[in-house]
Amino acid sequence: MRIDIATLFPEMCERVLSESIIGRARKKGLLEINCHNIRDYTEDKHRRVDDSPYGGGMGMVMQAEPIFQCFSKVTCGFAQKPHVIYMSPKGEVFSQKKAVEFSKKESIFIICGHYEGVDQRLIDEIVDEEISIGDYVLTGGELPALVLADAVARLCDGVLASPECFEQESHFSGLLEYPHYTRPEVWHGREVPEVLLSGHHKNIESWRREQSLKITKEKRPDLLADREKFLEDE
Ligand code: SAM
Repeated sequence: MRIDIATLFPEMCERVLSESIIGRARKKGLLEINCHNIRDYTEDKHRRVDDSPYGGGMGMVMQAEPIFQCFSKVTCGFAQKPHVIYMSPKGEVFSQKKAVEFSKKESIFIICGHYEGVDQRLIDEIVDEEISIGDYVLTGGELPALVLADAVARLCDGVLASPECFEQESHFSGLLEYPHYTRPEVWHGREVPEVLLSGHHKNIESWRREQSLKITKEKRPDLLADREKFLEDE
């Protein structure tokens, strides 16, 4: 899979995406991620990419043309248009389901806004969907783009040891994950649940399943209700 990020802060994105699991996966060639500086695509001699809003009001707006030029030049050799995502607090709230959907795409192109956001005409021209990472407003689209890229990249083939790594995790099947324990067996007087020391795989599996349901019921009853509805509709 290929992920392109159009941003005013490519070093910020590059730094995060060069670390840990995603950094190693990139080095192994399991996925390609490129961070592009939108300022490299402006014709303004001062490298400006924003201007004041028509109609007046506070703040600046990112101009359509530099982002459009960035998109056109980066994707000109592509066999097909990548899925274009604009990170925006007005978008659909990101979820594991969306991450799975994006991970199946050949290529995604993410646009990070700044200031008051980007000229609406750019969104109308090239954006396939607007995605929010939650109902709050950040200064720029870089952190949201990194959240999205990380969640999508870890689902790509070979990035994690096996699909089981994410299939049992919170949100994948609509439930929250069971609790984890590691050495020592007793810590601050707190013991590891006995069943986990039993070596009895079937019992461990059913304990984990029960815990998963219990935790979801306690912490996120909304997820359980959604899941029941989904199973009924199936
Ligand atoms: N004026 C915009 C509004 O009220 O909807 C907010 C602009 S925000 C200060 C600047 C940029 O940060 C946005 O263009 C977007 O790319 C990014 N951003 C901020 N909050 C976000 C969120 N919750 N999810 C995704 N992107 C966000």
